[in-house]
Parts: sequence; structure tokens; C-alpha cells
Amino acid sequence: MALPPKAGTWRCFEPALEQRLLTLSHYRQALRTAAEQHQLFLVYQPKMELSGERVVGAEALLRWVSPEFGFVSPADFIPIAESSGDILRLGSWVIDTAIDQLEQWLAQGAVPPDFRVAVNVAALQLMQPGFADGLITRLAHSRLPPGALEIEVTESGLMQNMELALVQLNQLAAAGIGIAIDDFGTGYSSLAYLKTMPVSVLKIDKAFVERMDADEQDRGLAQAVIHMARILGCETVAEGVERPEQVALLRTMGCNLVQGYWYSPPLNPEAFVEYCQSQNG
Ligand code: C2E
Ligand code: MG
Ligand code: MG
Ligand code: MG
Repeated sequence: MALPPKAGTWRCFEPALEQRLLTLSHYRQALRTAAEQHQLFLVYQPKMELSGERVVGAEALLRWVSPEFGFVSPADFIPIAESSGDILRLGSWVIDTAIDQLEQWLAQGAVPPDFRVAVNVAALQLMQPGFADGLITRLAHSRLPPGALEIEVTESGLMQNMELALVQLNQLAAAGIGIAIDDFGTGYSSLAYLKTMPVSVLKIDKAFVERMDADEQDRGLAQAVIHMARILGCETVAEGVERPEQVALLRTMGCNLVQGYWYSPPLNPEAFVEYCQSQNG
């Protein structure tokens, strides 16, 4: 039974809100134990060279299959982990696992020697002052050349603390680690800032790619990103490629790499190796 609130105290009258808060803390708690209980794993989506259609890299994507909730999308649980700070621990696990995986693939000869793996890095990770140092040290303790690792950061991730982001990105880039701007074109980064950043890849957001064969403006925007990348000396990766029409357009536009369901969904490590071998011979 609900009691009336005392004057000057705050109460939550909104049952839906209360429920949401409960659910949120419940999710947070579940996510916290997920790592220990092996409910988290990485899948890898191939990145294809558009000229030869060879697999030249992969994006590592985090998956959570919970006994309680089933499959939970990273679009839902990453923001939860960011809000609790758990993304820091989770993010290091992702980096460690992706590095271990690539070492193993290279040792087996399952991927080409110049293969690159990209990991997504959340704003909060980038805002930890020791992030770049930690990553460089971790990589130095591996058998990978620094160029084998790329981080994907979003524009909003960079904008949260431009100065600190720039210091860390400069460190990472100087060590040879690739820097990709993810979902490019959907954030607010200014061209002036972009010029000062040691960016090596622009990833054209799938929103533009999705409609590029039907919408002239989206096609124009995708082309503009490719032009801009060339001016900045960056590569371009188109994400969310689902149809051959998009591939044909991207090829004429001079895009470098493509990623999307047309080629392959994200795959578990075994399936990834099979795909690589079937494509690269
Ligand atoms: P993102 O980094 O932009 O990743 C691309 C998303 O597009 C992935 O969704 C991928 O599965 C999906 N995708 C790939 N090809 C296609 C396609 O052809 N069509 C469509 N419609 N979608 C495609 P996913 O795996 O659900 O991840 C969603 C987002 O969650 C990621 O977006 C990234 O921002 C975040 N995320 C995933 N793993 C991690 C992680 O380890 N750390 C962090 N911080 N964020 C992560
Ligand atoms: Mg990404
Ligand atoms: Mg993206
Ligand atoms: Mg995205």
C-alpha cells in the first residue's frame, strides 16, 4: 500500500519509472557476473578490401547471452555498462581477448600477416588518463605488431573531452595503433578538430550506406566522406553493406573497405577462419 509522502521528501510516484530503475540495477548486476560466468564473448565481422574482395581485417563485437534475458544487444547493454563504469573492466577484457585471438590466428596462419583487428572503445575508456599507456604496454607484451590493432571511437566519444582524447590518440597513433572514427557523419565533430586528430580511418555510418542506392543525397554524403577522408589521408570503411548495388556504387566512389551482411554477419572465431579461407584461398 502506498503511503502519502512526507512534506519535503521525494518519492517516486511513477510505477513505470520505479520499475525501470529496478530493471536497470538488475541488468547492471547481471552484467557484472556475466563475465565471470562466461556469458560474454566476441564475434568478428570481416572487413573486405573492395578492390580485390579479400578479407583484410575484422571488427570485434561484444555479445552477451544471459541465461535470464537471452540475447541482449550491445546497443542496450553497452550504455548500461558505461553508466555504471563497468565498461572499463569489460573494455579491457575485449582488448585482451581480441589480441589473444589475433595472435592465435596469426600463429595458425589462418589470416594474412598484415591482418588488422578493430575493437570498439567507449568514451569512458578513452577518458581514463592511463588508457593509451595501458594499451601500448599490453600490445608490447603481445607478439603483434602495433599496426595489427585499431580502435574505433565515435565522434561523441571524442567530443566529451577533446583535449584528453587528443593526447591519448596522439600517443596511440605514435605507437602505430590505428584510429577509426565510427559512425562517421552522425556526430558533431568539426572539420577543424578532425584535422588535428591522428585519424587513420573514417567509417561511413550505415545510415548513409543503407539508402545510398535509392537516395541521391545520401549517396552524395557518402561520396563527401570519401573525398574528405582522402584530403585527411585516411582510409574509408563503409559499414552496413547489404546489397550488391551498394558495393558497385562504393567501388566507383573509391571507398577502400566494406563491411556488412552482404559479405558476412559477425562470426564466431571458428566460422571466421572458415570464411577467411573461403574468400582468400
Ligand atoms: P558499431 O561499432 O557501429 O558496429 C556495427 C554494428 O552494425 C554491429 O552491431 C554489427 O553487427 C551491425 N552490422 C554489421 N553489418 C550490418 C549490416 O549489413 N546491416 C545492419 N543493419 N547492421 C550491420 P552490434 O554488434 O549489435 O553492435 C552495436 C553497437 O554496440 C556497435 O556499433 C558498438 O557501438 C557497440 N559495441 C559492440 N561491441 C562493443 C564493445 O566491445 N565495446 C564497445 N564500447 N561498444 C561495443
Ligand atoms: Mg564499431
Ligand atoms: Mg559503426
Ligand atoms: Mg553504431
